[in-house]
Amino acid sequence: MQGLAAIAVARDAPFRFADVTLDPPRPDEVQVRIVSAGICHTDLSAKDELLGIPLPMVLGHEGAGVVEAVGSSVRHVRAGDHVVLSGASCGICRNCHSGLPSYCDEFVARNMTGLRVDGTTPMCLDGEPLPGLFCGQSSFATRVVVQARTAVKIDPAMPLDIAGPIGCALVTGVGTVQNALKPRPGSCIAIFGVGAVGLSAVLGARLCGAERIIAIDPQAARLDIARSLGATDCLAPDADLVARVRELTRGGADYVVECSGNPAAIEQAIAVLATPGWSAQVGAPPVGTHVRLDVGAVGFGRGVRGVVLGEANPQTYVPYLVALHLRGELPFDRFVTAYAFADIDRAVADAQTGAVVKPVLRMPGV
Ligand SMILES: [Zn+2]
Ligand SMILES: [Zn+2]
Repeated sequence: MQGLAAIAVARDAPFRFADVTLDPPRPDEVQVRIVSAGICHTDLSAKDELLGIPLPMVLGHEGAGVVEAVGSSVRHVRAGDHVVLSGASCGICRNCHSGLPSYCDEFVARNMTGLRVDGTTPMCLDGEPLPGLFCGQSSFATRVVVQARTAVKIDPAMPLDIAGPIGCALVTGVGTVQNALKPRPGSCIAIFGVGAVGLSAVLGARLCGAERIIAIDPQAARLDIARSLGATDCLAPDADLVARVRELTRGGADYVVECSGNPAAIEQAIAVLATPGWSAQVGAPPVGTHVRLDVGAVGFGRGVRGVVLGEANPQTYVPYLVALHLRGELPFDRFVTAYAFADIDRAVADAQTGAVVKPVLRMPGV
């Protein structure tokens, strides 16, 4: 089978479009025609070679589409089903069995290499293997072959042209609040960085009945969106930030979701915590980044915890998020901007400048 892929070839080079060849699905794989694919910060970090991921590779990990073919042992989806693709996991390690597939023993091997665990790839360019399983999917392509576990069947009422971000940004933002932090109703939550993940955390905090939802971001336009989605207070980071959050929360935030990955913000996220209080570290700074920690700031029941992909089981959590959206309770379409697939370089540039929050590529013929 053929497909059109946008290949990340080098840090400062534009994406290279090429026709690629896909193997037929193995017994535990599915072939999906991609309808839309969101662009996530992790794609940009990978293309900028900040994650130690070798190029060339087909990036993209917020794909949504239609199943075209399934391997002989696949039971949970069939041709014609609408699916959202999410992170890959083995399904048999202890964390996978415990419903924490984002902490799978094979998470790095299955998501960060662009290859199957046996070192092969379903994608070929001019007869040569091309890594085509980034984050288990490589959805900057019109067609992919992926491990069946990464394909989540969704309600066909969900518009596929915006569904892709559910598999990463929404799962991460809403899931970090609902699954990892689990705030009691009436809690105070501060969210550092309101890009797509932070705005999703705002939506998650609202769903959990938070009393105060404080959005913190240098960009006024993003704070306006946060306010429209349920943030009760919107602050630009400045020298008084910690004091202002402490004042608004009458002593400190019960929970923080730190989405920026900025070292100064990570330190502030700890400094605004109530007693007790938890900061979920979601933003991923470059490997090797260090922050200063006043050990006293994590005394009395305070702490920081890294959270990946919202500690969600995609097979149950993605359909739940779809249902919320269809009921009007997860209006993430308000921060999605559509681009034609051919305009991927412009979409990436607009994401990097902050001109748009969540670019979503629409594949040709859709
Ligand atoms: Zn992502
Ligand atoms: Zn596993």
